[in-house]
Amino acid sequence: MPSANKDQKCFFCKIAEKEAPARIVYEDDFAIAFLDISPSAPGHVLVIPKFHAKNLVDLPEKETGALFLAVRGVAKMIIGGMAAPGLTIGINHGEVSGQVVGHLHVHVIPRFEGDGGASIQSLVRNVSEETLDEVKGKILKIKS
Ligand code: AMP
Ligand code: ZN
Repeated sequence: MPSANKDQKCFFCKIAEKEAPARIVYEDDFAIAFLDISPSAPGHVLVIPKFHAKNLVDLPEKETGALFLAVRGVAKMIIGGMAAPGLTIGINHGEVSGQVVGHLHVHVIPRFEGDGGASIQSLVRNVSEETLDEVKGKILKIKS
């Protein structure tokens, strides 16, 4: 069982440790999933690692793989249980993207015909003056 840094215990850590209430729908050794308290759609679930990390980059590799297996399992549960023909799965990474809770969480939001929602790409339309090759070059420099 992964143990979070106790100094960094946040409210979602408390949910993971059953010290705070939540409507839990899935749990394994590394991840736990529960209903969002203010759902964007019926069946909106948050999947979180039990290890406290603010975001995906801060999460150790082992927990990252396990988290996405949990997301996959929860996705199947929601598709079945909510009869959802689709899902939007996403992470608000950083305050600039809308992250409010400082413990990594993956939103799994059921999508239905005529629900009035849109695609992830429609969230932002920040058109670049740079070419795609220039952008690629920048990203590769970061990686090297
Ligand atoms: P984000 O903007 O990605 O940080 O979203 C945080 C999400 O956590 C929001 O959708 C909130 O409704 C949800 N949330 C906050 N507190 C709780 C809680 N105690 N139980 C369940 N969901 C919560
Ligand atoms: Zn936490």
